[in-house]
Amino acid sequence: MAKSARAWTCGSNVLSLWTFPRRVDGEPQEPHVVRYGPIPSDNPHGFVRGYTCTCRGFRYRADCRHIKEARGRRCGWNAACEPGVLPIRRACPECGGPVKMIEVTT
Ligand SMILES: [Zn+2]
Ligand SMILES: [Zn+2]
Repeated sequence: MAKSARAWTCGSNVLSLWTFPRRVDGEPQEPHVVRYGPIPSDNPHGFVRGYTCTCRGFRYRADCRHIKEARGRRCGWNAACEPGVLPIRRACPECGGPVKMIEVTT
């Protein structure tokens, strides 16, 4: 039977946002925005976690260079990968960013 527990995870695992300015000559353009967070899905949870980007490349290929870059910036720390290591003053031990308590199913 699935049990539910709570665990610390780096805030960047739950929801992150990166903006990539567009280098276009002439008028300023809306920056590309990469988000990491829940994406609607038809699985039992109703969502999956993953990356989305506002650029056109993502719309066609569901992947783009912005996401590639954002992946490198995301920390990804959670309490399960280092048992015994706890956030100090709600800061991620890996990147120093804010941490969040999330429900995990064990
Ligand atoms: Zn993109
Ligand atoms: Zn972190």
